[in-house]
Amino acid sequence: MKSPPKTFHVKSFGCQMNVYDGDRMAEIMAEQGLTATDDANAADLVVLNTCHIREKATEKVYSDIGRIRKEARSKHGTDPVIAVAGCVAQAEGAEIVRRAKVDVVVGPQAYHNLPDLVARAARGESALDTDMPVDLKFGHLPPRRRVSPSAFLTVQEGCDKFCTYCVVPYTRGAEVSRGWVQVVDEAKALVDAGAKEITLLGQNVNAWEDDGRGLHDLIAALADIAGLHRIRYTTSHPNDMAQGLIEAHRDIAKLMPFLHLPVQSGSDRILKAMNRSHTRDSYLRLLDRVRAVRPDIALSGDFIVGFPGETEADFADTLSLVDAVGHAQAFSFKYSPRPGTPAAGMADQVASEVMDERLQRLQAALNRDQAAFNAASVGRRCTILLERMGKLPGQFIGKSPWLQSVHVVGKAAIGDLVDVTIVAAGPNSVTGVMIEQGEGADEAFQRAKLDVAA
Ligand code: SF4
Repeated sequence: MKSPPKTFHVKSFGCQMNVYDGDRMAEIMAEQGLTATDDANAADLVVLNTCHIREKATEKVYSDIGRIRKEARSKHGTDPVIAVAGCVAQAEGAEIVRRAKVDVVVGPQAYHNLPDLVARAARGESALDTDMPVDLKFGHLPPRRRVSPSAFLTVQEGCDKFCTYCVVPYTRGAEVSRGWVQVVDEAKALVDAGAKEITLLGQNVNAWEDDGRGLHDLIAALADIAGLHRIRYTTSHPNDMAQGLIEAHRDIAKLMPFLHLPVQSGSDRILKAMNRSHTRDSYLRLLDRVRAVRPDIALSGDFIVGFPGETEADFADTLSLVDAVGHAQAFSFKYSPRPGTPAAGMADQVASEVMDERLQRLQAALNRDQAAFNAASVGRRCTILLERMGKLPGQFIGKSPWLQSVHVVGKAAIGDLVDVTIVAAGPNSVTGVMIEQGEGADEAFQRAKLDVAA
């Protein structure tokens, strides 16, 4: 038996949907009267909101549990209630309780039950919930009260695509869309709580639908919310990229010119083995259609190198696809077999050294394209949303419409939308000068250029 916790700490790993879930769990516990703490070792309740996408994710959770327990005991003499949430909780279930003696295990579709599970654990009862109820958790979550200028809003969960390397269909379940009214209400609440930008989230966000209406209809409705300035969405599947959504990039000014559209490989043979259900050519033609309506769109993608059976020729196809697209940014990973997925049992697993070498070449090409995209931005005027302070005095870091990090110095506040001219570019960010700086503008412009040159 443990005392009911008074303080809590939520640690989230992995994707933006986990960040959203972690925030919602924190809101649930705050609503119960618990106080948040940044120090995991001092918290009475520690929630590890886990990710199962990468290799060794499960082992990392077990070592985290051991470390947190040890440090809490040695530094504070406490034995915290430990709750494992997220996709590892869903995949491992009771095994985590058996192996690590944690107090609570809660899956991604059941975390609205966290207070009840914590209370059960405090009474010494079993506290495991990995159900995937038809009745979505969202209706049971507390209202949004305080959020950052750029907020996440989950509108869709789960996946029916069954890519052969991916655990999501097993850990997050089938594709489910939240209802129109619920999403619009939450968006309004986020704006009332301080959000200027909302990123709509889903494992296949562009598969969102409600009563015949698609994501573009939803975006159009959200664009009518006064006080909401920017809308983004991620992650999309190429096969769910409806014409209406493509045209929304032309017609809806608040929809930012950025599209994250994973492709994973440039080889049709590998795409087929991955069960991606699109081809290299259909992907490239889709991007042509997007660029036709929004020529300045920044494109982002995901890549996996070393999928089982990937030959040097297949990998060359990936490099040539990268050359053809010219991504503004991208994420690339070595293939890692996930237990229970079809690809994990495939023959011809690629040697780790081969994957390392291919990843290096791929990342060199992607970095080159990102740097080129940033360099091409110099001289552009745009509005950026200030999200946090930078390291230098008076410096802010904001996001451009194309999701570049923009460093800027000036009189402003976090959450402001400010007009800047981009004056210099680095590989991972750009530097801007506020247009409203009046007499000091030229001096600031020169100083910014010098800062970047240094
Ligand atoms: S589309 Fe494929 S990679 Fe994406 S979540 Fe679904 S199964 Fe996983």
